[in-house]
Amino acid sequence: MTRDTAPLSMLSGWGRYPYCQSQIIQPANQQQLLQLNQSFAGIPRGQGRSYGDSALAGTVLSCKYLDQFIEFDPEHGILTVQAGITLAQILEVIVPQGWFLPVTPGTQFVTVAGAIAADVHGKNHHLAGCFSQHLLSMEMLLGDGSQLRVSPTHNTDLFQATCGGMGLTGIILSATLQLLPIKSSQINQTSVKARSLSDVYALFEQAAESTYSVAWIDCLAKGQQLGRSLLMTGEHAKQGPLANLPQKTLSIPFATPSALLNRFSIKAFNSVYYHRQRKTVAQQAIHYAPFFYPLDRIQHWNRLYGRKGFVQYQFVLPHAAGLLGMEAILKRISDQQQGSFLAVLKQLGPANENLLSFPREGYTLALDFKLQHGLFRFLEQLDQLVLDWGGRIYLAKDARMSQTVFKTSYPNWETFEAVRAQYAATGKYRSTQSVRLGLA
Ligand SMILES: Cc1cc2nc3c(=O)[nH]c(=O)nc-3n(C[C@H](O)[C@H](O)[C@H](O)COP(=O)(O)OP(=O)(O)OC[C@H]3O[C@@H](n4cnc5c(N)ncnc54)[C@H](O)[C@@H]3O)c2cc1C
Repeated sequence: MTRDTAPLSMLSGWGRYPYCQSQIIQPANQQQLLQLNQSFAGIPRGQGRSYGDSALAGTVLSCKYLDQFIEFDPEHGILTVQAGITLAQILEVIVPQGWFLPVTPGTQFVTVAGAIAADVHGKNHHLAGCFSQHLLSMEMLLGDGSQLRVSPTHNTDLFQATCGGMGLTGIILSATLQLLPIKSSQINQTSVKARSLSDVYALFEQAAESTYSVAWIDCLAKGQQLGRSLLMTGEHAKQGPLANLPQKTLSIPFATPSALLNRFSIKAFNSVYYHRQRKTVAQQAIHYAPFFYPLDRIQHWNRLYGRKGFVQYQFVLPHAAGLLGMEAILKRISDQQQGSFLAVLKQLGPANENLLSFPREGYTLALDFKLQHGLFRFLEQLDQLVLDWGGRIYLAKDARMSQTVFKTSYPNWETFEAVRAQYAATGKYRSTQSVRLGLA
């Protein structure tokens, strides 16, 4: 009946922590999915690119074979797809026709449903908001077997609970998106060196009108160099080819010994990365793929962190916390010398109406931490700092946040639970994460 119903296998998110023994149900088409949903209790899953346990449960319903294009209006850039299609599959078709995704995360290997469920943000959140803000409507399959069209104006409560709701409200079957017109597949990138955190904050403010902006931070630099970074801004080129790049990738074949990643190797990498750009300002036209998805060129790069895996810690601090709040947290990370290769800082614009959507106006920092003794105690201290400064942690990256931290920083969780109850989702759609966070 299903394309592949595995008995039981060990499953994880992108961080390879935690693992969960799961039965993976993989319907080959929508008809099978409708039938399987009747007796299913667990969590829908896309490409498993969320880092922690939001797509993990004893039973997982894989939606990745729901990957068909349904309708495309190339004149107006309105696209309807099955929700298991990936952003990569979409880009392959729309870029040559002069269209682009209005919001994209840092990998194209996520499904549309995953992008909706996490209400993902990109390098343009300060101007374009989240993925859901370009979603015209979606079809959902609910816990009682009924199907519903959901949009910002139809069943608004379910729309606002589902976008950012981490798969806990029902199964997203298809979605209609408004795309962004482009004239070229090239991005004009400007890269500016910042000597400190206050420098990069000032540069972000100056770049408030740039379509895309993101900074890579050397999270191990200390003292006056705390927060030294490279700020990258980008604009779609006004002319040029409309072409996709052939997918050339390297692959990490197996988990590397985690001892390869230690504070010396990470410090060396960060320093080389910062100094590889000699000029203070550098400009170049590059293809959209390396601009938006630099890590996609290395398949299975998550294996670099060794067998035990890693966690990505992403938090946002509101504007009120200012530079002071970010400095306090960065200093704690730098003092601990535990930071990662990738510390990414972005400016976020105003929050939307969705109940569990992560972004709020301010700055967000994301870092990887290799799993090792004492890490969780350290992250609990960071959690406390994030709460003290009025911030919160991103559910799509989370693998270990406590119920208290979640409920304090996501004050709409009770309304979210009420909407789930109203749409027959309570107890039926649940993940390892939702159980840990105290959701029913
Ligand atoms: C390298 C990398 C870079 C990233 N960069 C960013 C970034 O810049 N910005 C950002 O916001 N995020 C970013 N992410 C996170 C990623 O975009 C999200 O975790 C996204 O949800 C992953 O989609 P997926 O298809 O892999 O979903 P999964 O990881 O499989 O699932 C994620 C959530 O979606 C739910 N879900 C999946 N399918 C369905 C369905 N059919 N119906 C209902 N719910 C469903 C699951 O239950 C789960 O809660 C990044 C991740 C990686 C690995």
